[in-house]
Amino acid sequence: MRRRKTVFVDADILVVGGGMAGCGATYESRYWGRDLKIVCVEKANIERSGAVAQGLYAINCYMGMQWDENQPEDHVRYARNDLMGLVREDLGYDIARHVDATVHKFEEWGLPIMKDPETGRYQREGKWQIMIHGESYKPIVAEAARKAASDVYNRIMVTHLLMDRGGKRVGGAVGFNVRTGDFYVFRAKAVVVAAGGASHIFKPRAVGEGMGRTWYAPWSSASAYALPIEVGAKMTQMENRIVLTRFKDGYGPVGAYFLHLKTYTQNAYGQDYEAFWRDSIEAMVGDYVNHHPVPTCLRNHALLEEVKAGRGPIRMVTKEAFQDPHKETVGWENFLGMTIGQAVVWASQNIDPKEINPELTTSEPYVMGSHATCSGAWASGPEDYAPSEYQWGYNRMMTVDGLFGAGDTIGGTAHKFSSGSFTEGRIAGKAAVKYVNDMGTDGPEVSEAEYEDLKQIVYKPMEHYEVYRNEIVAGTVSPHYILPLHGLQRLEKIMDEYVGGISAHYTTNEPLLTRGIELLTMLKEDLAYLGAEDLHQLQRAWELQHRLLASEAVTQHTLFRQETRWPGYYYRGDYPKLDDEDWHCFTLSRYDRESGKWDMEKAPVYHIVD
Ligand SMILES: Cc1cc2nc3c(=O)[nH]c(=O)nc-3n(C[C@H](O)[C@H](O)[C@H](O)COP(=O)(O)OP(=O)(O)OC[C@H]3O[C@@H](n4cnc5c(N)ncnc54)[C@H](O)[C@@H]3O)c2cc1C
Repeated sequence: MRRRKTVFVDADILVVGGGMAGCGATYESRYWGRDLKIVCVEKANIERSGAVAQGLYAINCYMGMQWDENQPEDHVRYARNDLMGLVREDLGYDIARHVDATVHKFEEWGLPIMKDPETGRYQREGKWQIMIHGESYKPIVAEAARKAASDVYNRIMVTHLLMDRGGKRVGGAVGFNVRTGDFYVFRAKAVVVAAGGASHIFKPRAVGEGMGRTWYAPWSSASAYALPIEVGAKMTQMENRIVLTRFKDGYGPVGAYFLHLKTYTQNAYGQDYEAFWRDSIEAMVGDYVNHHPVPTCLRNHALLEEVKAGRGPIRMVTKEAFQDPHKETVGWENFLGMTIGQAVVWASQNIDPKEINPELTTSEPYVMGSHATCSGAWASGPEDYAPSEYQWGYNRMMTVDGLFGAGDTIGGTAHKFSSGSFTEGRIAGKAAVKYVNDMGTDGPEVSEAEYEDLKQIVYKPMEHYEVYRNEIVAGTVSPHYILPLHGLQRLEKIMDEYVGGISAHYTTNEPLLTRGIELLTMLKEDLAYLGAEDLHQLQRAWELQHRLLASEAVTQHTLFRQETRWPGYYYRGDYPKLDDEDWHCFTLSRYDRESGKWDMEKAPVYHIVD
């Protein structure tokens, strides 16, 4: 084996992932832990990493309490309704009550927020969204984290968490530098996982040369879930994958179009179709369809049914709005600030939205915890607000001692978006400081044998490749190893066909899921033979391992929940209706890495806000 240098880093608090939540955790840990050593580790460079890397045009979670626009309770009601009744209201309330202060900090740090010229208030795009000139959103937020951290380690892919010798609490993490190949051992008293959501779990619509074109960032590779799952943290709502209605082929966002430009959708024959499906949706889900706003998944459902009925494509009516030069400018700027690809796609397909109403379509499913969906880790709630059953330690601590999370990592709290994720990072950072202070000198001890074993495991795909690289059958096909891209495509195909992806019309059932689990298990066996020709491919190999573990969780949860709770996100063909009597609850899983088995259970949903 090629010798690899090991670099040791000791810290009080280790933040894994320097996106929105990670920057929030790093910033806030410094505020409460002036003398602590706070380290942030990131696989890219925090300057432009994570889902916000390209910039944003709106901050989607702002209450506006200073102007009495909304109260935190209103946001809880909104998220609860959108998620068909199932959210952790304690966690959501906790974010909502603090999120305005976060946004005010962003403005103080230099983020230009648009103002309504008449009222002087922030320019609203919708009830919860405010408009920003957000091309530099991420560098602004990253600067605050950089100044707060003792050290930021960029370009290090974290592959595993370390446990304390006793196995009861977390003790740090290991990973490798994707440029130098050095192995890193981080020893820490508390770890905050903030490693983003997951794309490329299900087969995307764009494959082959277009495979990098996904809605959620292609580099969001499920580490946020795999790292905690591997050490036995309980997960929740992993079945609650999200499907987005977006502009076709470029995934351009539709929020500003609906909310600000007041554009609307119609079928291929110029008809409004949503009302047509109302009664059949009511027969599936009951009164949820009558709530306002209509839950995101149900709006997807109406679109999908209309297309299945042969009246597609669905189009966004832009021709009227774009006659107004101001609206036309806003429409284009909306993409140029955050999804430049959509503008390029339109240009390349001869679509001028002033002349042609562009097509919409539904995306492949994604797994994440901060959008109109709430997959993630099961976390302890705030002391002053969470029901006792939801409190077993420090705020945002998972079911593993010393292991915290925020943003896409934490389950049960939808609609936090960029500002809410940063806010949750702050909450987790503050709690982690308290945990470290309470621990005093009684720090965790990680065993040398554990990280030395992991070092062998981490580089194995490169060793494997080096030994067998000349035994090629054809092109890149080898009898001895599987390349990360091949493994990824196999994973996506299994998830797509068996767990409710696009080619299965988002539909699955018990026999399909059971077979899906068998196929995932076989894939897992084969991933022991991954081959990586260089460090870049080694990163791909570990991203794939993380995606596979998260996919297993998604499949197990989907099998466990015997109902169709979110039509438009996915369907259980064998349980086609929402079933509030048996399934108005959270689903929880715990993975045992020794046996490879998953334990499933239900947890109650407490409605704290009336
Ligand atoms: C297309 C799109 C549009 C959006 N639009 C809006 C919007 O208009 N307004 C809004 O408010 N929100 C929007 N959001 C939501 C917002 O971007 C997310 O809510 C937010 O970024 C989540 O924060 P996070 O820290 O959990 O994840 P991220 O910000 O994605 O950060 C995760 C970080 O972890 C790093 N990482 C991952 N794995 C590892 C590993 N193994 N080791 C080390 N580092 C790792 C990543 O590189 C990344 O830096 C949008 C998201 C997307 C994808």
